[in-house]
Amino acid sequence: MSDDYGGGIWKYANYLPHVPSDRRVTIGEGHTPLVRSRHIGKELGLSRLYFKLESANPTGSYKDRIAAVGVSRALVAGQAGLIGTSSGNAGAAFAAYAAAAGLPYELFVLERIVPAKLAQAVAFGAKVKRIRGLGQSTDVSLRLGDHVHERAERMNYAVAITAFAFNPPAMAGVKTIAYELFEQMGNTMPEAVFAPAGSGGLFVGLAQGFEDLGVERFIERLPCPVIVQSAGCCNIVEAWRQGLDAPVQQDSTSQISGLQVPGAFDGTAALAFVRRRHGWGESVPDAETWNWQRRLAELEGILCEPAAAITLAGVARSVQAGRLSADTSVVCIISGAGYKDMASVQTIVDSKPDVPLCSVEQLEVRG
Ligand SMILES: *Cc1c(COP(=O)(O)O)cnc(C)c1O
Repeated sequence: MSDDYGGGIWKYANYLPHVPSDRRVTIGEGHTPLVRSRHIGKELGLSRLYFKLESANPTGSYKDRIAAVGVSRALVAGQAGLIGTSSGNAGAAFAAYAAAAGLPYELFVLERIVPAKLAQAVAFGAKVKRIRGLGQSTDVSLRLGDHVHERAERMNYAVAITAFAFNPPAMAGVKTIAYELFEQMGNTMPEAVFAPAGSGGLFVGLAQGFEDLGVERFIERLPCPVIVQSAGCCNIVEAWRQGLDAPVQQDSTSQISGLQVPGAFDGTAALAFVRRRHGWGESVPDAETWNWQRRLAELEGILCEPAAAITLAGVARSVQAGRLSADTSVVCIISGAGYKDMASVQTIVDSKPDVPLCSVEQLEVRG
């Protein structure tokens, strides 16, 4: 096997924080498919709607790109382990990469974390604790953040929190999504990119990736970044609407796993990108998000988690508001896989006719 760059996102090692090739941890993250919509685009009147399937990453979300860099950097720094908080996907990702690197990983998760994400982290061997009120209360997430930083210092552990506010080097991994998109679209920039946001790190990493590319390739027209949040936790989008520079303070009532981040740690940076790149924000009621999750499955064969489907809900809202024209190239970041949130998948299943049990004889009788 050719191993010049270490595989995975290390193809882009030149754009990432320095890691010698023998310390680069990869389990095949990145290089995710970009597929063109076959039905929903037509229905919305968009001729160039695309889905970037981050759900195809090793642990089922784009967080693997961050974990690959974060864990490799911990090895370079000679750290003894990792410690962090997560709504689920970052925990699953860091748990996998810590396992691959042979490092211990302490993880604090939401009280109401979805079972599949917790199961992944536990299966990979993370030491997990659920924290009361995390994901609902801003106060709890700030206090837990302090605890994590104190303990990290004491134990010589790397902090594994997926926000630029806490971990800019590891977050550089997100930029590789932008580099891949550029290549996949024939060395051109998409015109609009829709990303979901909890704390805003995915959005900031994408926008930063496009900016870096623009500088390197002398491209002036960069994608218009659109930030999509759950209406029950839209601290950044609400600030954009009100013309503010920092996210509004608001506890979360969202039921969308991954988007329940009342602190919005990267909200200020996200707002700066929205303004500078003439983007906008959309907030989506949870029921609408679940509806688009179902439609993506039924009409495109893409089963993702609700936090990913919300981008398509955002596209539909933007079309309705007249913000997108028919020939705009639009990319939805499908940030996580359907198996991450089986309760939401079960709701789709339950709404359909029961799956019958038959004997082969019954089939033969009916021809
Ligand atoms: C983490 C995550 C998000 C949100 O990312 P932020 O950086 O917190 O804005 C969206 N979708 C999925 C599937 C995620 O795992």
